[in-house]
Amino acid sequence: MKSWTSRPVPGLPGTMPSIRLFDTAAGREIELDEGAEASMYVCGITPYDATHMGHAASYVAFDLLNRAWRDAGKHVSYVQNVTDVDDPLLERATATGVDWRDLAASQIELFQTDMEALNVLAPDRYVGAVESIELIVPEVERLLAMGLAYRVAGSGGEPDGDVYYDVEAAGKQSVAPDAWTLGSVSGLSESEMLELFAERGGDPGRAGKHQALDPLLWRVERPGEPSWPGGSLGAGRPGWHIECTVIAQRYLPAPFTVQGGGSDLIFPHHEMGAGHAHSLAGVPLAHHYAHAGMVGLDGEKMSKSKGNLVLVSKLRAAGEEPAAIRLAILAHHYRSDWSWTEEGFAAAKRDLEGWRRALDHAPHGSAAPLLAAMRAALAEDLNAPAAVAAVSRWAREATDDAGPASAADRALVVDAVDALLGIRL
Ligand code: ZN
Repeated sequence: MKSWTSRPVPGLPGTMPSIRLFDTAAGREIELDEGAEASMYVCGITPYDATHMGHAASYVAFDLLNRAWRDAGKHVSYVQNVTDVDDPLLERATATGVDWRDLAASQIELFQTDMEALNVLAPDRYVGAVESIELIVPEVERLLAMGLAYRVAGSGGEPDGDVYYDVEAAGKQSVAPDAWTLGSVSGLSESEMLELFAERGGDPGRAGKHQALDPLLWRVERPGEPSWPGGSLGAGRPGWHIECTVIAQRYLPAPFTVQGGGSDLIFPHHEMGAGHAHSLAGVPLAHHYAHAGMVGLDGEKMSKSKGNLVLVSKLRAAGEEPAAIRLAILAHHYRSDWSWTEEGFAAAKRDLEGWRRALDHAPHGSAAPLLAAMRAALAEDLNAPAAVAAVSRWAREATDDAGPASAADRALVVDAVDALLGIRL
């Protein structure tokens, strides 16, 4: 599928120090040491309700990592998927009387326009679930053949043949120290997993499953639902976790460096994806798993059902500058849960204005120390608020400085803020 267009990233003198990142599976910050090549898979949207502030914050967070890696001189391979067929998308299409394909296409278009406006660097590959089904079918067949998946008989109105992943069998499959067992990524207890599984699209109560937490790999055709040829599986469509796993394995090294997403993807999505990958390839899916916090509105959870989604496209339509939206996001550490507020947005707009005004006063020799401070902040678990504070401090000092302005320092500040924070002054 077509991706969006990235703005060029200015090159900077010197280099980013070694980057530390909080790894969810390890439960601590680790030093990313992956040589000259870095690779990242960030789970994409299901194309309805795009792009709310939670989406935006998550993609901006991993954009910081992408930019930090590039500044460190690494070559970055970046893949993002789009879940362009899934239950919530089909439900929304039915509820609004729109063809699901048209809904998906329009929301993907909107999402990509928002990403481009927010100056999020485009993935090298933007891959749809639908276009990947022919890659996914043989992998589900392979899991069945390995005894790590099973078919469930129809009951209670459900047809015969849905295929589920056997988490217990998969967990016993390998004794390698990096082998996956349930909980390897999330570190959750079984009761916590059960609660989240039910909340986030799982079906713990489905009759005939070996274990409540076994996730769906293949959903056989139902009347009125789209389906695709499934070889020996029969017509149907894939489960969500196996989609990301197969797409990541197809287009990235095994293991790749970082899998990213919102913290609501830790379980079951990233947990199960890690299991599928280990079952299929014998090595972990990713070296590290990183997660961005959730964004609320004025202290409340943001959700369509509450009618309080803050959409990037609506703010843009109201004439707000995307760079200010991005700066409002960067004022919060990516791992924290935070709320979008009018006051926060107003503060970001004031900061942006202050930064731009200060450029006319850029003191001689002031840009290099600012660049070093920004790099040090970002290398420490992508601490954007500290980098933003460094720019604001520079702006205050520059504005107060009575000396002559330096064109070279001005140019370097503009480039540094653009390359590292993705904000064009
Ligand atoms: Zn995913």
